[in-house]
Amino acid sequence: MKPPIPERIRALEPYKPGKPIEEVERELGLRGSVKLASNENALGPSPRVIRALTQALPGLHRYPDGSAVVLTTKLAAHLGVPPECIVLGNGSNEMIELLVRLFAAPGDEVIMSEDAFLVYDLVCRAVGARPVKVKAKGFHHDLEALAEAVGEKTRLVFLANPNNPTGTIFTRAQWESFLPRIPARVVVVVDQAYCEYVDDPAYPDTIADHGRHPGLVTLRTFSKVHSLAGLRVGYAVGSSEIIDALGRFRQPFNVNSLAQVAACAALDDREHLDASRALARSARAQLERGLAALEVDSVPSHANFVLCDVGDGAAVTDALLHRGVIVRPMFAYGFPHMIRVTYGTDEENQRFLEALAGVFEESRR
Ligand SMILES: *Cc1c(COP(=O)(O)O)cnc(C)c1O
Repeated sequence: MKPPIPERIRALEPYKPGKPIEEVERELGLRGSVKLASNENALGPSPRVIRALTQALPGLHRYPDGSAVVLTTKLAAHLGVPPECIVLGNGSNEMIELLVRLFAAPGDEVIMSEDAFLVYDLVCRAVGARPVKVKAKGFHHDLEALAEAVGEKTRLVFLANPNNPTGTIFTRAQWESFLPRIPARVVVVVDQAYCEYVDDPAYPDTIADHGRHPGLVTLRTFSKVHSLAGLRVGYAVGSSEIIDALGRFRQPFNVNSLAQVAACAALDDREHLDASRALARSARAQLERGLAALEVDSVPSHANFVLCDVGDGAAVTDALLHRGVIVRPMFAYGFPHMIRVTYGTDEENQRFLEALAGVFEESRR
């Protein structure tokens, strides 16, 4: 006798996150490894955040503020939108899931680029909605083709800007011709998890565009530039109607009290933000130079990671692992020849480049 697990759930390929350093080291008997596998901020959390968290600890027996008033108010001021247009989540991943559950039923279609963040696909399959994968154009979302793919059954379109794992962006001009082509009944979700890293003036911040499409939702997170991946806090910005709907069926205490306190402190820490951006800029230059010297092609990135062509992504990932450098193979995204490397500190990037040179050297012998 087996429990009645639905077939669509049995068929799901679970999301494979980067392994924690401790687990990898235990498995391989290594020490002092560097993890460049999950697009975390190499700088670590800001000292302000740590101070705020320490002060909050004695209150842990209390439930969190279920509507996160302090953080929502602060964010509203920060973003220049009314507080009723923001809802917080247990990471922006929770918002991805809630949006799909809110708008897509079994049989409905959800459109995304074939090389977009895998969680969109996974969440759709979990609810029985059909992910429609649109061909990418040289590692970029093809916004024309994405608009073209919208049909009767389309409920949502997911766009990641910058996209993970490609690190590419779509421009204001592309966005301007895309948005008017999307019917008002279709929800457009723009995932801006890495927006703070983008320097390109052609980058469209879609938060400014709410009001131009009733179904526009922008997602942001504290996991990346703000260094709070371990605490799980992200948010959605959209029309007050959509935000109200999301608020109705999220869990009442979906954002824990430490996450709320830490996110407030992180928003106040301009210095940490600037330092994180500066570190990403120098890492980008360092890795571009180092990869070019090793004759490795990479995709120019606007985020804090880089997709690089190493020939055999799985084999190179494994060989790097044995040299104490953890990266992500990309076969799950249809790039079996590639790995994704998160920007680290100068020393960590150097460790990666040296390890990669060693791996190439070894395979030539
Ligand atoms: C990392 C990432 C997120 C953030 O997820 P959280 O749940 O907020 O940690 C969202 N979208 C993309 C594309 C990402 O790479």
